[in-house]
Amino acid sequence: MILIGLGTILISTLIVTKILFPLQELENMARQVADGKLSYREKDLGANEMGRLGLALNEMASKLGQSIAGFREEKMKLEMVLETLEDGIMVFDKTLHLQLINKAAERILALERNRVLNKSIPELLINPELEDLIKEAVRKKLQVNGEFQTRNSMTRYSQVLIVPFEDDIKTLVILRDITKLRRLEQVRQDFVANVSHELRTPVTSIRALSETLLDQEVNAEMQKHFLEEIYHESHRMSYIVNDLLILAQLDEGEGFTDSYKHFPLKKLIEETVNQFFTDGSREIILDLPSGLPDIAAHEDRVRQVLLNLLENADKYTPKKSPITIRAMKKNAEIQVLIVDQGPGIPSLERERIFERFYRIDKARSRAMGGTGLGLSIVRRIVEGYGGKVWVESEEGKGAVFIFTLPVTG
Ligand code: ADP
Repeated sequence: MILIGLGTILISTLIVTKILFPLQELENMARQVADGKLSYREKDLGANEMGRLGLALNEMASKLGQSIAGFREEKMKLEMVLETLEDGIMVFDKTLHLQLINKAAERILALERNRVLNKSIPELLINPELEDLIKEAVRKKLQVNGEFQTRNSMTRYSQVLIVPFEDDIKTLVILRDITKLRRLEQVRQDFVANVSHELRTPVTSIRALSETLLDQEVNAEMQKHFLEEIYHESHRMSYIVNDLLILAQLDEGEGFTDSYKHFPLKKLIEETVNQFFTDGSREIILDLPSGLPDIAAHEDRVRQVLLNLLENADKYTPKKSPITIRAMKKNAEIQVLIVDQGPGIPSLERERIFERFYRIDKARSRAMGGTGLGLSIVRRIVEGYGGKVWVESEEGKGAVFIFTLPVTG
């Protein structure tokens, strides 16, 4: 009996230590792996089946850990790419609830990610045209592309491509903001229309005047008058063509890409003023400090800026009033001010006068031989060199045109 009893105790102890404890350990380990603790390592359970099972579980856990870390990294990369994409991306599930939206799509559609995730299409309150396009693509199970406009503070134009996936699980929406492109197209169209219009006026005059000269008997005095008009109009045309050529060269980047020469701006201002105001009839006040630093640019381009601004100041200021040219160094740039005592510029026009062909009083500008391109050339040159140009003015009390250019070194 004692022997049987001892044998039973021995067998029970063996069962508990060799089978039950390792099993408990394995269960514990499997539970930890299931809970996501993949770095969990079981202690050595010996060289028997239990030990080998433990080792296999250890290996499985570490492989699982590696795969999950790999997935995480891939997910992070994908998210990074999605967030930095210029194009907007949205993914809808099969019930058309939003599952994913990137930053660009938030911006294009003026949505906020936290508010729209998991919302159905009608709840998103997106543009109705876009909503219809998505529904059409899902219904037809075909790729659909289109365009739509959104109006918040300004009108934005967007292109969209909708791709419903074959298995009908997800729908991908790709958005592209084409507002800039549309604006550029518009500017180009307006520019071509303006050029044609500006050139048509003198061409029509020249034709009418020459037809009269050819068809009718006109006395010598009238003949002279007509010829003077033709001469005047042809000059106007050549001014316009000349300014257009300058703008075309500037748009091509000519003069901005090659290496610049350093030169003293003070000397250039003095030279240009002397070159422009030759007859001495206008009082010119020069306020140029002697220690003005050099600038790096093409001298002829900067001379063009000064000439255009001086020409305007002279054109619009009564003959007896003076024009002041002031320059100073401010931080890393030189600021040049051209102060006149003309009619000034109304606040609503202060930005627009720098547009191509924009004139406050078209008839007056034409009569004075203006092309409406002078200030746009000024802006193009100054900005090409990294500077800025603007006008400060009080209506009726003259205008101050200010431009800046970076100082060298
Ligand atoms: P324009 O050849 O007509 O002078 P600009 O581009 O040089 O063309 O100027 C655009 C418009 O800005 C002018 O038509 C004029 O109405 C206004 N302007 C420019 N300079 C002055 C100024 N100094 N005083 C008043 N108005 C000005």
